[in-house]
Amino acid sequence: SLSSTPSRPLPNILITGTPGTGKTTLSQSLAEELSFTHLEVSAFVKQHSLHEGVDAEFDSLILDEDKLVDALEPLVAGGGQVVDFHSPEVFPERYFDLVLVLRSSTEALYDRLTERGYKENKRDENVTAEIMQVVLEEARESYAEEIVHEVRSDTVEEMDANVERVKAWVGQWKADNKQ
Ligand code: ADP
Ligand code: MN
Repeated sequence: SLSSTPSRPLPNILITGTPGTGKTTLSQSLAEELSFTHLEVSAFVKQHSLHEGVDAEFDSLILDEDKLVDALEPLVAGGGQVVDFHSPEVFPERYFDLVLVLRSSTEALYDRLTERGYKENKRDENVTAEIMQVVLEEARESYAEEIVHEVRSDTVEEMDANVERVKAWVGQWKADNKQ
């Protein structure tokens, strides 16, 4: 069908989830295994000053979404991007072929964010957001339901299974999009 006609040479994958669910760890592993580019959006925003200031209460940058989308456009056009970000709704729908939403238990997330040195308010806000599945809802509102997949990320075994699953998916994408 027309909708499966490739618009880029390789697919783009969004790895999203509440902070601490394992996006960066999974994305690094995927980028290495697939020879894709790991695009960590928070670092990219800092590097290119795609922010409008700092939210002092939550110790985080206020994103300039328009600037971010423009800066990503040429990278996304080439495909092969593993985009790592906690806010799935800031990107145009057409940027991604697969969206993975990582989910973690309250216990795992609490421990990971404490270890990371998050202030209590920021940690608790994120743990609550995970319980309320805020990121999953945002992803489902922003992309076609068949490309959004919710996956567990509590253990290393689950992480490895997620890598294998995405590798298999990319293999299938390449087979389906041979020209
Ligand atoms: P995020 O990028 O989503 O904030 P990270 O990839 O930085 O999360 O992971 C946060 C911490 O949790 C790291 O110490 C990482 O090693 C650990 N971690 C992430 N995913 C898993 C997992 N599936 N199983 C066990 N530990 C994990
Ligand atoms: Mn991260």
